[in-house]
Amino acid sequence: MFLRRLPKFEYHMATSVAEALGLLSQHVKTSEIFAGGTDLLVSMKKREVAPEHLINIKGIKGLKEIRFDDKEGLKIGALVTIGELERSEIIKGKFCTLWDACKVMASPQIRNLGTIGGNLCSALPSADTAPPLIAMGASVKLAGSKGKRTVLVEEFFKGPGESVLEHDEILTEILIPSPPENSGGSYFKLMRRRAMDLAIVGAAAFLRMDGNKRVCKNACVALGTVAPTPIRASKAEEVVTKKEIDEDLAAEAGKVAAQEARPRSSIRATESYRREMVGVLTKRAIMEAYKRIIYDS
Ligand SMILES: Cc1cc2nc3c(=O)[nH]c(=O)nc-3n(C[C@H](O)[C@H](O)[C@H](O)COP(=O)(O)OP(=O)(O)OC[C@H]3O[C@@H](n4cnc5c(N)ncnc54)[C@H](O)[C@@H]3O)c2cc1C
Repeated sequence: MFLRRLPKFEYHMATSVAEALGLLSQHVKTSEIFAGGTDLLVSMKKREVAPEHLINIKGIKGLKEIRFDDKEGLKIGALVTIGELERSEIIKGKFCTLWDACKVMASPQIRNLGTIGGNLCSALPSADTAPPLIAMGASVKLAGSKGKRTVLVEEFFKGPGESVLEHDEILTEILIPSPPENSGGSYFKLMRRRAMDLAIVGAAAFLRMDGNKRVCKNACVALGTVAPTPIRASKAEEVVTKKEIDEDLAAEAGKVAAQEARPRSSIRATESYRREMVGVLTKRAIMEAYKRIIYDS
């Protein structure tokens, strides 16, 4: 990979969402939002993007909080870093599907800079926070010059590097519903090495069991890096819904998920290996989610 010096740009520091939106409207299509910079600066050095204006939003205080209440669920400000999520007791305790992803992302240094908002807005198929957020039914709040809107994370991605975010919009918050009773989830990531690598495959499962914790009432399975965007494996979900979970059923769901995936060969892995691994990781994610429901509560 050939990295050059950063191209020239004008630097702006926004201290409110309104100020950032004003700057975006002033510099239409020649500006980029800058959060942790861990994706953006690399893309600039590779000359994939060359914005004339960088709008640093790290000074916007209202976007740095993690708030939870039973009724409203979890609200994560777009500027919360992956490291802050990893260290949060509420994420580790109640939203461990997301915690699973945060602890295997990049390195401590990158996790301390990179934000959850930036991870979603880069819109890469390998974004580690995407499958857990999709599995948990999360949505994102977008603020723009024309107003605010809320979009399900599942519907946020359009293609590699592309999302529904308009140029004059900022992602401000991620909303995750309170986990229902007898529910739980997990995320598994396959990498070529144990750290500092993007996923070859990522699989998240979130299950809700009946009162006896025997029959699965509903299931959500989400996959990363095996299609142009993070995807749901809805046929695999059907395999486990309204059934008693066991290893064989989870393996069957894995096989079905592997058929739903649309992976491609790349420097990291071949198409067939990725497909095979979707089966393995989906089974593991379902079984781990199930065990957490049975043993953790
Ligand atoms: C060495 C290395 C290893 C990595 N490993 C992983 C990994 O294992 N898993 C993984 O998923 N990622 C990985 N990444 C990618 C990156 O670190 C993450 O995606 C990170 O969360 C990006 O957040 P950021 O705040 O740095 O985004 P930035 O680089 O600041 O921004 C990324 C993009 O999103 C836009 N943006 C950022 N925030 C907002 C917002 N609130 N509203 C609107 N637009 C916004 C920016 O304009 C830019 O286009 C790695 C990166 C590096 C350099």
